[in-house]
Amino acid sequence: MNTEMKQYPAELLSGKEIAAAIKEEVAEEVSKLRVVGIEPCLVVVRVGEDAASEVYVNSKIKTARELGIVSEHKHLAADVSQEDLLATVEELNERDEVDGILVQLPLPKHIDETAVLETIDPEKDVDGFHPVNAGRLFQGHEALVPCTPAGVIDMLKRKGIELKGANAVVVGRSNIVGKPMAMLLLQEHATVTICHSRTKDLAAVCSQADVLIAAVGVTGIIKEEHIKPGAAVVDVGMNSIEDTEEAKGFFGEDELEKRLRTIEKRGSTLVGDVNAKAAKSKAGYFTPVPGGVGLLTVAMLMKNTVKAARMRRGEQ
Ligand code: NDP
Repeated sequence: MNTEMKQYPAELLSGKEIAAAIKEEVAEEVSKLRVVGIEPCLVVVRVGEDAASEVYVNSKIKTARELGIVSEHKHLAADVSQEDLLATVEELNERDEVDGILVQLPLPKHIDETAVLETIDPEKDVDGFHPVNAGRLFQGHEALVPCTPAGVIDMLKRKGIELKGANAVVVGRSNIVGKPMAMLLLQEHATVTICHSRTKDLAAVCSQADVLIAAVGVTGIIKEEHIKPGAAVVDVGMNSIEDTEEAKGFFGEDELEKRLRTIEKRGSTLVGDVNAKAAKSKAGYFTPVPGGVGLLTVAMLMKNTVKAARMRRGEQ
């Protein structure tokens, strides 16, 4: 397969480049839909003042507007009652012009997240977290699929990385990344193994992977001994390093100075679950953090919004 043929060092899988291609395609589709009188519309609901959520929501709204998707941002107070939040979602379910509803997570502790996600109309569930969409994905039917794993598959396919028959290992089994990631790889005919916190010998399993996906949230948990030479390594993790000594073990000479300057300036630098030095020297392909998977997530949300608009309005 492709990955066996690679020469090292690893080829960078640029999320920026792929996200730009996806967005361009979405913008074209939006223009075509407008011609037949369909205006895809996304509503993002944010609760409270979580700083990271504000950044994510603003980026989603901005991207939607850039692509011609009608978008609306509903910002509710941190102490909104469960009842009022559910009523907001139900109101959006009722509004026919709304194609996509996204409730930004995490929600405040007094809110039952599952109840909120299950209230979203599955046809408008552009995050793909509703059990109906999860079930449809599990059964291999058409579904709205969670954006991050959908973005990873899109990227691997665009880059011509062979999935059929490949040994794929997913580290992480969350409902939003790990499990749907594994299902999508299975749909592509990979032989899939899912690892988690109770996996006995993580390195032994990961080092067999032609395609290795890390979605853990632990800085540098994937090291040289976890990587099969020439493998495609996708890093979903988003963590940070504050300690300069830790950074020295994480980055190669090509990147270290820049990262040390970032730590000095901002107090930390964004990293993934994969040790960057190991990925660069041993993998066939790898996604950088930042600049990798994170950028694909927003692009795929736009793609899901257009897909929801098409499906709801019978424009297949
Ligand atoms: P969760 O915390 O929900 O899941 C983490 C998973 O990792 C769990 O299944 C857990 O196992 C497993 N895990 C934890 N420790 C270990 C370990 N030592 N060895 C093996 N497995 C372990 O996280 P998410 O799935 O929501 O997110 C994962 C990462 O991806 C985070 O860093 C998050 O920030 C990032 N992320 C990035 C996105 C992007 O757009 N780039 C989007 C979404 C998430 P167990 O089930 O046994 O507890």
